[in-house]
Amino acid sequence: MSVNSPLHASRYAESVSVETAREIIAHAIAPVLETEKPVLRRTLQRVLAEDIFSPLDIPARNNSAMDGYAFSAERLDMHASPILKMVGSSHAGRAYTGRVASNECVKIMTGAVIPDDCDTVVPLEDALVLETGIQISPNAVQKGDNIRLRGESIEAGALALPQGTVIRPAHIGLLASIGLSEALVYRRLRVAFFSTGDELRLFGEKIDDGGVYDSNRHTVYALLSRLGCDPVDMGTIRDDPRILEATCLKAAQVADVVITTGGVSVGAADYTKQVLEKLGEMAFWRIAMRPGHPTAFGTLFTTKKSTCFFALPGNPVSVMVSFYFFVRDALLRMMGALPSPPVSMRVRTVSALPKRQGRTEYQRGILFQDETGTWCVKTTGGQGSGILSSMTRANCVIILPADSGGAHAGDTVEIVPFEGLV
Ligand code: AMP
Ligand code: MG
Repeated sequence: MSVNSPLHASRYAESVSVETAREIIAHAIAPVLETEKPVLRRTLQRVLAEDIFSPLDIPARNNSAMDGYAFSAERLDMHASPILKMVGSSHAGRAYTGRVASNECVKIMTGAVIPDDCDTVVPLEDALVLETGIQISPNAVQKGDNIRLRGESIEAGALALPQGTVIRPAHIGLLASIGLSEALVYRRLRVAFFSTGDELRLFGEKIDDGGVYDSNRHTVYALLSRLGCDPVDMGTIRDDPRILEATCLKAAQVADVVITTGGVSVGAADYTKQVLEKLGEMAFWRIAMRPGHPTAFGTLFTTKKSTCFFALPGNPVSVMVSFYFFVRDALLRMMGALPSPPVSMRVRTVSALPKRQGRTEYQRGILFQDETGTWCVKTTGGQGSGILSSMTRANCVIILPADSGGAHAGDTVEIVPFEGLV
């Protein structure tokens, strides 16, 4: 299934492998250090800048996991269906404060504090309400049942969340549960981006002369926003080396990272590479992958600072693939996040997936359940890097390694679901 022409081999000779590209990027970037302390609700998707230790045991007291009756199983014969006298009730937020003797019980609600004398809760449905008292069904419970123990979620002094955590809803909830109304996070990463191309048109302009609406700028904005960055839109730039140079310099001054799209191929109007080389250092400018082959990475130098850049290809699918598999990880590291490689899994493909050896391919796939309920993947069809509509139909990327010659229907392949990527 592989096609290996000498022409093809030379095309990839100047490219770095995906693994090398990742190493070069990881080596070159440094996380931002500035921090701020927003109120808790404003920390969603931000990165925690310190370890958080719990000041409290959570739960703070032993409490009931069920609506039922609390009693002491210690001195009771549970097989004898004991009948207990109800002496009070304990509500969540309103605890029973009296004593409970060994032949007594307290009606208790979920979340209510367990009275000191009790060690077990029998659920309402496992007890009979008799005139003489509350009868517990034989074998309904064992000592210690239905009690949430003090500190079982988190103990006072324990690490609640490590520095570098990307804050998601569960983290917000946990921080609230230990009584923290704000959290120290790294400041947002400022990412300047722009599109290049004489053919690019803005909304409202006509495209019947062969123009295309600038979609990349909006895709990149969306990707950055979802990742939790501060996107700085530098606009749509013409294929003019002077304008390109001025825009790159300005972007490098105002942002932590610069992302460009288009103009990194070898066409007559592809000035991005030449301008970036003039203003900085190019670590690589091609990755042995498809789509996304002309992806460049390096550093721009201004009088005040150095700023790393990603020069992504112009094709809309390539932009997304390069972002997902190279830019995303780099930005997360710069945001101070702990490494979080995309979730991948291996599933059976029902489609043949032809490819050439020598480059990693990221094909668009649709993950679905077959008639037996097993998750499988199929191709979206044409893999042209301009077919952005296929990205909207796909729900995952199929990763075919460089040394693979493609997959047959029935083979097992690696996929990365879009959900969770950004
Ligand atoms: P380039 O890498 O500049 O040669 O562009 C490759 C292809 O992507 C061309 O067909 C461009 O028209 C298209 N393209 C480049 N930039 C954009 C953009 N911002 N939005 C949509 N398509 C683009
Ligand atoms: Mg172009």
